[in-house]
Amino acid sequence: MDKNRELSKLKKSILKFNKNFPGKNLVFSDGNKDAKVMIIGEAPGRTEDKLQKPFVGRAGKLLDSLLESINLNRSKVYITNVVNYRPNKNRKPTAEEINEFKKLLFKHIEIISPKCILLLGATAVRAVLNHVGSLKEIRGKWKNLKIINNSYDIITTLHPAFLLRQPKQRKYVLKDLMQLKKLSNNFSS
Ligand code: URA
Repeated sequence: MDKNRELSKLKKSILKFNKNFPGKNLVFSDGNKDAKVMIIGEAPGRTEDKLQKPFVGRAGKLLDSLLESINLNRSKVYITNVVNYRPNKNRKPTAEEINEFKKLLFKHIEIISPKCILLLGATAVRAVLNHVGSLKEIRGKWKNLKIINNSYDIITTLHPAFLLRQPKQRKYVLKDLMQLKKLSNNFSS
């Protein structure tokens, strides 16, 4: 598969959704398209909308430092969001938006074809695992899920924006990331 070609086709499909987010920019992805680890967040914030890159605001800086703690950085991971536009007034994406973008996200996963996926927070968990309940039950546990034609190992952790508000929860995120590190050590790149 020609990833660049497929990614630009996907980008074009997502651009059609711009009409639902007037005045907002498409925030598609960042990182390495050949990475073994794909990270999925919720939706862009103000800084991400401005710079047209996911996770470049305060939560993004925290994400970078968390990744660094397990020897990962943006050249070794691929990062995107469930919803690729900033919802108005920084609200959470609605269930309808999550559903609409889910098909595009699954296509995105298929194109990148990572070995494993890290979900950040409730919106990503809802979109990918169809899980609506508490994150406590699900974080730190590996799930294996078939998406389109392939199966992926998927782990969930708390969203870095939540961690900014609740820094004491960091220990849980570090624990989850250690699991990701253990698995990703098996992938030689
Ligand atoms: N929060 C997200 O979920 N995604 C971003 O890109 C930035 C903040």
